[in-house]
Amino acid sequence: MRIFFSFISSSVSFGRNCCSSRLTSRHLHTLSTKSQRSKLATVFNWQSPPMAAAEDSLRKALAEKQSAVEAQGNAVRALKAAKAAKSEIDAAIEALNSLKLEKSTIEKQLQAAVSGADGDGALSREAFRQAVVNTLERRLFYIPSFKIYRGVAGLYDYGPPGCAVKSNVLGFWRQHFVLEENMLEVDCPCVTPEVVLKASGHVDKFTDLMVKDEKTGTCYRADHLLKDFCNEKLQKDLSISADKAAELKHVLATLDDLSAEELGAKIKEYGITAPDTKNPLSDPYPFNLMFQTSIGPSGLSPGYMRPETAQGIFVNFKDLYYYNGNKLPFAAAQIGQAFRNEISPRQGLLRVREFTLAEIEHFVDPEDKSHPKYSEVANLEFLMFPRDEQMSGQSAKRICLGDAVSKGIVNNETLGYFIGRVYLFLTRLGIDKERLRFRQHLANEMAHYAADCWDAEIECSYGWIECVGIADRSAYDLRAHSDKSGVPLVAAEKFSEPREVEKLVIAPVKKELGLAFKGNQKNVVEALEAMNEKEALEMKAALESKGEVEFFVCTLDKNVVIKKNMVSISKEKKKEHQRVFTPSVIEPSFGIGRIIYCLFEHSFYTRPSKAGDEQLNVFRFPPLVAPIKCTVFPLVQNQQYEDIAKVISKSLTAAGISHKIDITGTSIGKRYARTDELGVPFAITVDSTKDVTIRERDSKLQIRVDVEEAASVIKSVTDGRRTWEDVWANFPHHTSGSSDD
Ligand code: AMP
Repeated sequence: MRIFFSFISSSVSFGRNCCSSRLTSRHLHTLSTKSQRSKLATVFNWQSPPMAAAEDSLRKALAEKQSAVEAQGNAVRALKAAKAAKSEIDAAIEALNSLKLEKSTIEKQLQAAVSGADGDGALSREAFRQAVVNTLERRLFYIPSFKIYRGVAGLYDYGPPGCAVKSNVLGFWRQHFVLEENMLEVDCPCVTPEVVLKASGHVDKFTDLMVKDEKTGTCYRADHLLKDFCNEKLQKDLSISADKAAELKHVLATLDDLSAEELGAKIKEYGITAPDTKNPLSDPYPFNLMFQTSIGPSGLSPGYMRPETAQGIFVNFKDLYYYNGNKLPFAAAQIGQAFRNEISPRQGLLRVREFTLAEIEHFVDPEDKSHPKYSEVANLEFLMFPRDEQMSGQSAKRICLGDAVSKGIVNNETLGYFIGRVYLFLTRLGIDKERLRFRQHLANEMAHYAADCWDAEIECSYGWIECVGIADRSAYDLRAHSDKSGVPLVAAEKFSEPREVEKLVIAPVKKELGLAFKGNQKNVVEALEAMNEKEALEMKAALESKGEVEFFVCTLDKNVVIKKNMVSISKEKKKEHQRVFTPSVIEPSFGIGRIIYCLFEHSFYTRPSKAGDEQLNVFRFPPLVAPIKCTVFPLVQNQQYEDIAKVISKSLTAAGISHKIDITGTSIGKRYARTDELGVPFAITVDSTKDVTIRERDSKLQIRVDVEEAASVIKSVTDGRRTWEDVWANFPHHTSGSSDD
């Protein structure tokens, strides 16, 4: 979850009203990334400094060349008007043409610079995405929900292979995190009463800024329109000056910090209209992303569909702590649906209105954030993108996690431990390590209470996508729920020996306060008790010197006069047997749909068919993730082979291996191609009654195995006890022709 991220700092620096929407959802979520939101497409529109410098000087050169062309054009016209000699006019025209040629060369260079690798790259990324998405939809990995009624934006169903992949990813998540760390898993309702989300801040601040087409009422994310405008201008309008380009880039870099008013002013200044109709747009206003409902028939009890699963864990802290033997640290985990009424969902599975979140809340003593298993991940090395590197325009680099923690780049060991575990989780699923980086939040992206935040970002055809947010949220969430519910969500450290401590004691004298303030007595008592140490000691000094003091009671919204006989303030020595504190929480939050989509892209490739006349699609899912682990094909339609196939299928079922038996007479090559497209890693082909072949999907290599042994070999390579290389080295090879035949 996220929330209130740089709430304080933003509101200070931009004078933003705390109700500003973007603070929330965005800050709630993305900034960390922009994950939830704007970060989807491109995290930074930054170029490296040399690229940006080249672009700048090309823009300047282009502007100069343009002036030169205009001046030369004028000169040619003047010569013609003055009926100058033909040779003179021809020479001037030749000079004009060569200037135009130079201008067009600069234009081409600039075009290449502004689009970076994107000129051709964008096209091929688009084509690649189309190929992946077509395959996914055709093979029912996912389906636009309610398709026969023309669907609903931002809602998708998982079809059979998609469901299987998702269940494998979640199964591995449970094994890698819940089981490995002894986490306490809970399963809380999606429907959540308002009071919970009021305490968490979602009711007031989980918003995005929206604009409406003034004529049709169609809604758009205000920052998306501004971002699209700036990107398009920068990439397509080569005539803009270097200064204008710098301005647009600045807008892009600060997009997430713009208030509603600032965003509205920019939209007006740039003349941005509704993309579909070109109609004028309304001023931006906050739109709360939660789906509202009411609980029960009376309509009197408001509720919301939860926008994240974390709150269910926080409100159960007291019981979970007790369940854990009143010991810290411990982690609770939850997998479940989250609902966000995105204004304009786009980018397929990446921004949807209902999605599966898997969240961990690791509760830890704020004074000891070490982790007993930290050494297991400290030597990992992977792409990290610390704040300083981002600010100085560098790119992510390979860093040893242990160094990042010891140098203080990563705030503490526990946060580092989870970053390492997330890296292992994603790469074991099949995410390409070279397209995975951990990006630290910039100061303005982070909630004011957060100690440090990192996003696991995965690069796909849409750019770098925040898929997992890993944040040290300090004690914010438990405190918010303690305050609202009145139930202390705290932990205690028992001392082996009692410790003597000096404690401030504020004792309001209720009798005197009652006489003085009558019905307001309670408000005054509460305000006195809520003073911090500094305020209390100042009051004590003032009462001793002057006998009375003015005191502001915020719940009465006025000053009252407190006299010496109304309160006693002292410091007393006390013996304490324990330290009571609000635990800090370290929260890794996984967007399962985003991880799965990136996995689809990272696993997809094409290879030519045997005849070379078509490209065949393959998903190279590791067995762990593959929707079906194995297929069983009788080579030809023949009763004996079919009987053997059924026997093998039975043993596979008994071994718990998902498989598919295909007894159609389709050519074996076509059957392999069909299942390669589903990412099935192994195929058993029955071509004799004694032994069979096992084919591995990516190498297309085949071994021969006895019928009785087939299921156990498949079991060992799919559950990771053996590698394909190992079985390849230990079984006879099947060499008669290619496995495409
Ligand atoms: P957040 O609470 O915004 O940090 O989101 C937690 C995780 O949920 C993010 O890291 C994303 O992976 C995922 N996520 C957030 N919003 C969406 C969305 N609209 N559609 C799909 N996944 C999302």
